[in-house]
Amino acid sequence: MSRILVAGGAGFLGAHLCEKLLGEGHDVYCADNLHTGVKHNIKHLLSNSCFNFIQHDVTNALYVDVDEIYNLACPASPIHYQVDPVQTLKININGAINMLDLSKRVNAKILQASSSEVYGDPEVHPQSEQYWGKVDPVCMRSCYIEGKRCVETLFFSYFRQYGLQIKVGRIFNTYGPRMHPNDGRVISNFIVQALKGDDITIYGTGQQTRSFCYVDDLVEGLIRLMGAPANITGPINLGNPSEITISQLAQRILSLTGSSSKLIYLPLPRDDPRQRKPVIDQAKSLLNWEPRVKLNDGLKQTIIYFEKLLCIRGSSGLL
Ligand code: NAD
Ligand code: UDP
Repeated sequence: MSRILVAGGAGFLGAHLCEKLLGEGHDVYCADNLHTGVKHNIKHLLSNSCFNFIQHDVTNALYVDVDEIYNLACPASPIHYQVDPVQTLKININGAINMLDLSKRVNAKILQASSSEVYGDPEVHPQSEQYWGKVDPVCMRSCYIEGKRCVETLFFSYFRQYGLQIKVGRIFNTYGPRMHPNDGRVISNFIVQALKGDDITIYGTGQQTRSFCYVDDLVEGLIRLMGAPANITGPINLGNPSEITISQLAQRILSLTGSSSKLIYLPLPRDDPRQRKPVIDQAKSLLNWEPRVKLNDGLKQTIIYFEKLLCIRGSSGLL
């Protein structure tokens, strides 16, 4: 049994990770300032004596004696991270420095949730870890992208300079229950719109692609990466290589929900990447990990979650 800190543990991925780690018998410390995360995500964990919620902003130093640290603290949705780009950079960089300093002080293994965004608008398709990316350092997304890239540099600098046990996972688009209904990501937007009978908002032509990983698969990947031998530091891609256009995704969600919502086309946000698909050979060979949940099955689970949240099936929720 280990003592594990999950920074950003009240967010979408963090709450699933906390739940899984508790299920494995660990003591979990969830540090979160509820910037984009919500208490609702972890309310079922609060009565567990092995779960400790610490309301904390990672841009300030944190003192807690743990064996492992997962650093997930950072808004992940473009509408959230672009609203205050300076703060996004501070959360990424100052937050990572504080987590790395804590790891150094208490000799804890530390894992960083990096992102497929480090590849920018990729010219190489699909994206393997060897590709260095195509990033405009002054674009609208750069506060997040360059933040994540700098955090990767920080992790490898602490590794080389102080011998910290680091792990860097590059997470591709992930979806599932506990996504925030208003956070603007495509799967939550489309499902909520379909369930409410609102128009489905396709940005641009809908021909841009993404590859969506179900949250349970992703969390398993993070835990395997943390448990991997010390020589496996990453960066390592974690995602589902099954690629789909945004138009196809909209059709899929319409059919699974049985909705008669109309498709409408809105302007493509600036700097929106055209394509995204991970090469996961490293995760397969080094972590013996690959996603298992098919898109249709994961979407069905996510639809059930949002139906409950929207009170369509009677349960109260966030909205
Ligand atoms: P999320 O926004 O749901 O969760 C982020 C959590 O971090 C929230 O609970 C938020 O309150 C917390 N947080 C933000 N700023 C903080 C601060 N200053 N101090 C303490 N806590 C703070 O996002 P998510 O989808 O769960 O993403 C988690 C991590 O995974 C992020 O680092 C994100 O960049 C990364 N990631 C996610 C995806 C994805 O598809 N979900 C893809 C790539 C990378
Ligand atoms: N998108 C869309 N309609 C929406 C929300 C998003 O067409 O209501 C598009 C968005 O432009 C992008 C893709 O879906 O091309 C994925 O967007 P998301 O914000 O989920 O993830 P990211 O762009 O960060 O990969």
